Amino acid sequence: MSRYMSSRFDTLEAYVPGEQPQDMQYVKLNTNESPFPPSPEVLSAVNAAETGRLNLYPDPEGTALRARLAAMYGVEPDNVFLANGSDELLFFAFMAFCDSERPVAFPNISYGFYPVYAQLLQAPYTEIPLREGFVLNPSDYCGIGKNIVIANPNAPTGRAISAADIEEIVRTNPDRVVLVDEAYIDFGGESCLPLIQTYDNLLICQTFSKFRSLAGGRLGFALASKGLIADLEKIKYSVNSYNISRLTTVAALATLDSNDYYVENSKKIQANRAYTTAELEKLGFETLPSLANFIFARCPKVEGGALYRGLKARGVLVRHWDKPEIADWLRVTIGTREQMDIFLDKVREIVREAG
Ligand SMILES: *Cc1c(COP(=O)(O)O)cnc(C)c1O
Repeated sequence: MSRYMSSRFDTLEAYVPGEQPQDMQYVKLNTNESPFPPSPEVLSAVNAAETGRLNLYPDPEGTALRARLAAMYGVEPDNVFLANGSDELLFFAFMAFCDSERPVAFPNISYGFYPVYAQLLQAPYTEIPLREGFVLNPSDYCGIGKNIVIANPNAPTGRAISAADIEEIVRTNPDRVVLVDEAYIDFGGESCLPLIQTYDNLLICQTFSKFRSLAGGRLGFALASKGLIADLEKIKYSVNSYNISRLTTVAALATLDSNDYYVENSKKIQANRAYTTAELEKLGFETLPSLANFIFARCPKVEGGALYRGLKARGVLVRHWDKPEIADWLRVTIGTREQMDIFLDKVREIVREAG
């Protein structure tokens, strides 16, 4: 127990982020970053002129960036909300929409921040078990009368559901918010964005951290009805009205100007995903079909924790959780072809040694 901290946090278990070693000696396949740097346009946008304006606060309304995102996605600026990473966006959403009368439900195997935010904000939550093979059954969420959070594609499984399935969930819970976390949507999944025109209770979260190679810039955004966006704005202006920095703003605008570069990178990642999956299956691994920039895989011979440690000892970082349902599994971020070949070589070495 802390001497000074409020006792309401005594049982709170904070989120544990993936390792971020500062000496850069690892092949880093553990936190789903892009292996590709930001586009050259981003590098020149974050320039001396903008740095020279850091004495001034940024635009609290994020006018330019919201207008650009709105144009790109065919919505109005009032349908767009900006946050300091989608983690902040998720926090604002839990704060705005969840309480003891409005509990929240999400899958038992999903993004680790969801239960942390529910606990932090003292909102009751239900973890709905995924079905056999980590499959999300949409009917488990239809008409449950709760706020719902679904990552689509899901993390760490990589599995996705269709926009039609999302629509059923949104349609049958009209008095509650359905938050669809589309952090990985640009690696092959089907976005449910068109549904925000019909459903006031659908909140879509996306991020610049994965597909757009800007994890270090911290930018997430929501697309939703004007009503839900206004609710999020109320929370934002009660917490931190200048939540997006000037440098991140110019970097993000330049990112949207070079969309083709990122689409090309996503194609490379999807090809490397197919290649890595096929190579792991040759070694007898079980893998799940992924529409994200990572794969979830289990080795028949080496237990998950041992494989994680063996790879780390050989300079390759992947993600492993001690949670019993997934303790045999590893989540491997898809990097460049060269990175995946190093990863596969080390896996072959470890599997060979295991006999
Ligand atoms: C990476 C990730 C996020 C967080 O993204 P940031 O924008 O970097 O905060 C949110 N949700 C899921 C499912 C993620 O995997």
